[in-house]
Amino acid sequence: MKGFSKELSDMAKCPVCEKKYKKQNATVLEIGQKRNTVHFSCEACRVSSLVFVSQDQMGSVGVGILTDLSGSEAKNVFQKESVSTDHVLSVYSHLETISASK
Ligand SMILES: [Zn+2]
Repeated sequence: MKGFSKELSDMAKCPVCEKKYKKQNATVLEIGQKRNTVHFSCEACRVSSLVFVSQDQMGSVGVGILTDLSGSEAKNVFQKESVSTDHVLSVYSHLETISASK
């Protein structure tokens, strides 16, 4: 995905306190052609979130959800369970449905 890092760092911020994430807060879980999944932990309020970034004709779209997992835990889940990818996909398409109906 071209320009991923810059675009992601532009849109990545804490959903709770809105502090901008830094690169060192990020754990990359999955890099795909059209979808990337990154775990962020906020250094200000300690809240963790998963950010899904997808790319379509309109450009990059980022969706963040809060999680209890730490970066390394999330990485384990993503690496060990192929099922979890389907789960994430279903969560993601659910989120897409919500944002589309707004
Ligand atoms: Zn925060």
